[in-house]
Amino acid sequence: MGSVSTQVTLAKERDNATFDPNLMDLFINGEAWVNTRNKILDVVRKQPEIFDMSDIYFLNREGEVEKLLKQEKRVAELIQQKKLTDDDAMAITYIQDASGPYRLHRGMFMPTLERQATDEQKKAFLEKARNYEIIGCYAQTEMGHGSNVRGLETTATYIQETDEFEVDSPTLTSTKWWIGGLGVAATHACVMAQLIIKNKNYGVYPIVVPIRSTVDHKPLPGVSVGDHGPKMGFNGVDNGFVNFDKVRVPRFNLLQRYITVDNQGNVTIPSDVDPRVTYSTMVYVRSNIVNIMGKELSKAVTIAVRYTSVRRQFGDDPNKSENPVLDYPIVQYRLIPLVAKTYMMLGMSHEFYANYERCRMAIEKNNDFSLLKEMHAVSCGLKKWCSDTTVYGIDTCRHVCGGHGFSLFSGLNTAFANLYPNIIWEGDNFVLAQQTARYILKVAENSMNSSPIESDDPTSQIFKKFKYDLPKRKISNNKLWNSEITPQTVVSNEQLLLNILAYKVAHQAYTLATKINVDKQSWNDSLVADYMTRALSEPLNREKMGDELREQIFKRYIEPVTKYAKL
Ligand SMILES: Cc1cc2nc3c(=O)[nH]c(=O)nc-3n(C[C@H](O)[C@H](O)[C@H](O)COP(=O)(O)OP(=O)(O)OC[C@H]3O[C@@H](n4cnc5c(N)ncnc54)[C@H](O)[C@@H]3O)c2cc1C
Repeated sequence: MGSVSTQVTLAKERDNATFDPNLMDLFINGEAWVNTRNKILDVVRKQPEIFDMSDIYFLNREGEVEKLLKQEKRVAELIQQKKLTDDDAMAITYIQDASGPYRLHRGMFMPTLERQATDEQKKAFLEKARNYEIIGCYAQTEMGHGSNVRGLETTATYIQETDEFEVDSPTLTSTKWWIGGLGVAATHACVMAQLIIKNKNYGVYPIVVPIRSTVDHKPLPGVSVGDHGPKMGFNGVDNGFVNFDKVRVPRFNLLQRYITVDNQGNVTIPSDVDPRVTYSTMVYVRSNIVNIMGKELSKAVTIAVRYTSVRRQFGDDPNKSENPVLDYPIVQYRLIPLVAKTYMMLGMSHEFYANYERCRMAIEKNNDFSLLKEMHAVSCGLKKWCSDTTVYGIDTCRHVCGGHGFSLFSGLNTAFANLYPNIIWEGDNFVLAQQTARYILKVAENSMNSSPIESDDPTSQIFKKFKYDLPKRKISNNKLWNSEITPQTVVSNEQLLLNILAYKVAHQAYTLATKINVDKQSWNDSLVADYMTRALSEPLNREKMGDELREQIFKRYIEPVTKYAKL
């Protein structure tokens, strides 16, 4: 059979493009990212002795951590010399496909300080962190609690006599666990702890705790700290544990942008502060995850599309080369939706990030937290969808590459293993899905009330537009478009597409809301049980039953029972 070289095939496929790839790059990635990428590639290529990654698949864990620490050190030097910014440093991680021990220092420690420290605290901690004089991590998860943040057991108790906080891990399960950067690198931890002042628990707040000496890097007294060993992937990051045995830190170390504690133990929490702001770092990190997922999936689909265009199997004509496997519909069926989702994810992440920035500026400038609730719900939903789609999409890309996909050199296996924790961290995806669903249901239920609380957030607008008519059990305004809907009008009209999606959300949410609150309640709610008992024992006073919901319950469940009882 004839054969066609890889180069010729790829050139031919590329010639088929109906658009300029450079313009598309600018369009989907934005000029800022394209410039950053070029700048980083320049740095990385100029110093292969530090940044070359060709031996990465042959290194053991220790070798990987060591190699990436060397890169981190160089990056820190370039930042100190003002040749790179913190954002550039994060970009290197994505471009090199390798996260090292400082990832959480930049990705969570500094962002938490930026958002939750006072100006004096920023001077004390953030400036040092930016100069790499201290290396930080974000210690929230414990051995016993991850998703249930309120259940965290680590305590920070105010000791008035010495004007200090005592940070303690009272149980084995309160040991901080999974903390990136803690294994070998961190000198400081931003610890999420139950804040206890004068025997009152104020909930979980961040407090900066030094854990290793900045002189000899040895653990400080009362601190048991270490790396918790090899993982499925993400092995360049030193995830670790820490246990505190009544460690004292100055009162100053409690991040006090949104709570103030004075030396008499008086606590001030401004009344206009939304307590969820302490978790706002997580919203920020989720917004980053959404963006990263698009970029990572684009790498995987690029590998898979290129490979399947040059990989040839079978052919009917012995005088011609075999068919590129990409030409088989069953390969396209698996790959093309992923290509589409990649574009979608990249586009959506820009929109989401812009909204996040709006929310952050409103908080920073005006203490306006009104957008936070919606941002939290959206960040949960998007993080879940994007990380699921990317992780399992990479798995599909690997499968589509056949046996060669299984080689580490495909790049897809390491990507899968390294990116997998994105479906777990910053909120396990199933837990996050519940949070988004709960928010949507609450907004739907609010709109079903006779006098709903007005709000102009985008989710409320959906339910305002497609209002539910409870007695008729349907959405009252179900006109999506003024003229006839054809496939052409759907694909070419953004507003119609948005209407269809919004209608679908509204329909599903109303269906669920009525199932939970109107139908299902009748079987297990004590209120209904009470009506049932009364229905069987005394004549019913229909006037007293009140609203539409009870009317419905009566008609469906109580009336038949009373009829039966009379018989
Ligand atoms: C590689 C990696 C790096 C990490 N880095 C950090 C870090 O730097 N700092 C940090 O603080 N944390 C870090 N984490 C921890 C991470 O945030 C937690 O693992 C995550 O929040 C999930 O918590 P968990 O492990 O306790 O799981 P669990 O909460 O125990 O969940 C176990 C299972 O129960 C389900 N579940 C839990 N609650 C509910 C519910 N209410 N309803 C239904 N199902 C439920 C979950 O879906 C899951 O399937 C990291 C984790 C990993 C894997």
